[in-house]
Amino acid sequence: MPQLYINTIGCQMNVYDSDQIERALAPNGYSRTNQLEDADLVIVNTCAIRAKAEQKAFSFVGRLARLKARKPGLIVGVGGCVAQQEGERILARAPQVDLVFGPKAIPRLARLVERVRVQRLRVVDIEDTEGIEELDLSSGFRDDGQVARFVTIMQGCDNFCTYCVVPYVRGREASRHPDHILAEIRMLAAGGVREVTLLGQNVNSYGQKEKLGTFAELLTGVDQIDGLDRIRFTTSHPKDLSDGLIDAFGRLDKLCPHIHLPVQSGSDRVLKRMNRQYTRAVYLERIARLRQVRPDMAITTDFIVGFPGESDADFEQTLGLIETVGFDGVFAFMYSDRSVAPASGFKGQIDDAQKKERLQRLLQQQEVFTLSSNRALIGREQEVLVEGFSTRPGLAEENTPHRQWSGRTPGNKIVNFNQDPDCAAEDAVRPGLMVGVRIEKAYSHSLWGRPIWVEEEPGGLKGDTCHAA
Ligand code: SAM
Ligand code: SF4
Repeated sequence: MPQLYINTIGCQMNVYDSDQIERALAPNGYSRTNQLEDADLVIVNTCAIRAKAEQKAFSFVGRLARLKARKPGLIVGVGGCVAQQEGERILARAPQVDLVFGPKAIPRLARLVERVRVQRLRVVDIEDTEGIEELDLSSGFRDDGQVARFVTIMQGCDNFCTYCVVPYVRGREASRHPDHILAEIRMLAAGGVREVTLLGQNVNSYGQKEKLGTFAELLTGVDQIDGLDRIRFTTSHPKDLSDGLIDAFGRLDKLCPHIHLPVQSGSDRVLKRMNRQYTRAVYLERIARLRQVRPDMAITTDFIVGFPGESDADFEQTLGLIETVGFDGVFAFMYSDRSVAPASGFKGQIDDAQKKERLQRLLQQQEVFTLSSNRALIGREQEVLVEGFSTRPGLAEENTPHRQWSGRTPGNKIVNFNQDPDCAAEDAVRPGLMVGVRIEKAYSHSLWGRPIWVEEEPGGLKGDTCHAA
């Protein structure tokens, strides 16, 4: 069987697309490998959001030249956002590349790879077709033991934030039909997946253009799928966060109490220049409303520091917003100049040293809140969906002869715990089971606790109770 190696760079949408690439190539007989040396076809699924991600892609492609010299039959493909943005230029820059394809070409991939393989042609497909071409689901999905998976519900974006490449490389916003989305999630749930994260650049506007119903209606349909226990989504744009969607958090049992609501800046002046189409006051009002409906709601966000023209006073307002909201976690990025986006031509570009300094200050300020929101869980029981073994080395006092398991709370916090020989059978814990964990320690990026009960089977009864509740 020919082997396919995929290097995925970037966001969750690319993780999902890489699975679609694998599925699209299954009819050609390719099976996925984690060993680059074994591959007959290597695909780099690229990200163009920041310059660093783009450099990472080109450096990996550079390394492939040596592999191809040793293995002349190797086919090298570049997909994703950099492929869409650069097209033919990639072939000129990297002679080892045989195929360049944009995100919308994935359903055509089987034919494109065959053209390269049989005719030994170099092929480019970055056609920006309208709407969404669905992949045939009949081939199913490879069950690789993942219990939480991503499902893209829409592509592209119409918002044109002035710093962002997405509308240029992913095209106009288009939503998948709910029947396709629900069928895919039913198939995943039947295969043992217990949690899905619905993906889109602005899920709040799902279905509006095509009149496919609202996002809250889609969530209601997903909530009814048997075997599925948890629903998450990302990303929500604050300008479109409707009362209907906020109310869904109070109404739908499976919808986890966590929202990722990127704010980008705490200054109205910067938000306007970013074309975000909401103000700080609107953002705060939406947060208050979310907390009214779910007081236990975990809230995370994205910030960009050093946007062109961001003054010290603007940045202080961002720090002030962190204090006011008390986020559970943030992702913060230094503004990265993207020539295709309008902000590239804005006056007041900020130098790297100042961006770095602001990033450090922001992260330091947030650290206090992340720790305090994690510490607030100490002594409380959390339901954890076990995903696998922890990759984090345990601290001395946590180390036992037993391996550390890892999973997430409904609020999306990572919890590590040791299997407790006094609790249920030695092999009671496994990926895909819910475990009740009493939290004992809180760190910046994770929690640690002791198991109290272990589900006997997915969706089944709580098993042994081990420690006094
Ligand atoms: N659609 C989402 C939204 O509107 O919030 C964001 C999607 S984008 C893939 C993820 C994050 O990357 C953004 O929230 C933003 O913080 C960051 N980002 C986007 N363009 C950037 C740029 N040019 N420089 C730095 N960060 C950027
Ligand atoms: Fe980019 Fe803005 Fe669209 Fe998000 S909403 S993908 S930041 S243009």
